[in-house]
Amino acid sequence: MALIVHKYGGTSMGSTERIRNVAKRVAKWHRAGHQMVVVPSAMSGETNRLLGLAKELAPAKASAAYERELDMLASTGEQASSALLAIALQAEGLDSVSYAGWQVPIRTNNAYTKARIESIDDTRVRADLSAGKVVIVTGFQGMDEQGNITTLGRGGSDTSAVAVAAAMKAQECLIYTDVDGVYTTDPRVVPEARRLKTVSFEEMLEMASLGSKVLQIRSVEFAGKYRVPLRVLSSFTPWDMDIVQEATSGTLITFEEDEHMEQAVVSGIAFNRDEAKIALRGVPDKPGIAYQILGAVAQANIDVDMIIQNVSKDGRTDFSFTVNRGDYAKAMDLLRNDVMKGLGVEDIVGDTKICKVSIVGIGMRSHVGIASKMFRALSEEGINIQMISTSEIKTSVVIDEKYIELAVRSLHKAFDLDQPPVAA
Ligand code: ADP
Ligand code: ASP
Ligand code: MG
Repeated sequence: MALIVHKYGGTSMGSTERIRNVAKRVAKWHRAGHQMVVVPSAMSGETNRLLGLAKELAPAKASAAYERELDMLASTGEQASSALLAIALQAEGLDSVSYAGWQVPIRTNNAYTKARIESIDDTRVRADLSAGKVVIVTGFQGMDEQGNITTLGRGGSDTSAVAVAAAMKAQECLIYTDVDGVYTTDPRVVPEARRLKTVSFEEMLEMASLGSKVLQIRSVEFAGKYRVPLRVLSSFTPWDMDIVQEATSGTLITFEEDEHMEQAVVSGIAFNRDEAKIALRGVPDKPGIAYQILGAVAQANIDVDMIIQNVSKDGRTDFSFTVNRGDYAKAMDLLRNDVMKGLGVEDIVGDTKICKVSIVGIGMRSHVGIASKMFRALSEEGINIQMISTSEIKTSVVIDEKYIELAVRSLHKAFDLDQPPVAA
């Protein structure tokens, strides 16, 4: 008998019929002798619907008070789907109980809309499991020190599930979703994308941080920190399929290199439409300038991604960086009203119609010429590169948003990702 955590995403919980299927699948695992904790997302579209309502009524300027209410609101989506799943399990003849984040409790910091989990008290859940119950824990939410409800950022139910699995030392955390695993790139954009049987933790971390929304980045971080065995698999297989077959389907995130691992140089392509570029022109080129600009941005709790400073001319330079699109207006406001004037910057321009495309692979460590192959493939399509950043196992470029699909498809082809890698 093992303790297993299942997570079901929004599409998998998208209707009462689908929730019934989830209940039947969970009941099968329970009857096979496992202790089951299940973490559901809100029914598909529900979080967007709720946040859309808030937007209609929102004050002109966002504040912590407003963001608190966003979390109060958005967290109700998971509360509803969790109760529905508990009811569906009861209809299957099982004892089942659902808990909101604050009832567990799952404690977080107080960064509304993007809170981080700090601790989980599993006493209550363990007692229920020992009593033979299936326990449902709401995804996406927690509670801060003052008892306020917080949410964990979009896609945060993945993180709830992995954090619960880590806290309870579960044997495995299974992420059930609407695709049957992690692919070489988003199969909705490239139909030839290939499912990976295994993907290394490091590659998964890069892919998630660079925009592959199949797993939220923090869930991968948790899995790495606590060595949680993690698998991504489909919730659309027949619920009564053989459990051993099901348990070995999908994609396993691996922590050690083993002989089963694919030996590709580039394992996957990620892309992100959520960035915006800000360029400050005619910045006086003197020590401390980067700190004065980016320090102010960081103080406003805005993450900066890529940064470029051009060669200076006549004592002035251009300084560009990217931020999350959701933070763009706030960053522009801050730079225009506070930072720019004091620094004597000539001009500031922004562009929200950009995207970032990245190639990822641990094989890039030991191979040269991979980035240039990427640049060639893009140039052959006439795609202009605006920014570049590299690390040991990835190369990212910023390009015009309108070329995103063309870029991803041509890179997928250039690196032969539709074919299994040739043995090294
Ligand atoms: P859930 O609601 O189950 O959490 P998400 O929509 O958050 O599901 O994530 C699953 C989606 O991630 C897939 O439908 C797919 O379009 C997208 N995706 C992006 N990159 C990848 C990838 N490399 N492999 C698989 N799916 C990907
Ligand atoms: N319901 C939340 C969202 O839509 C969390 C999740 O689905 O993981 O972002
Ligand atoms: Mg998701």
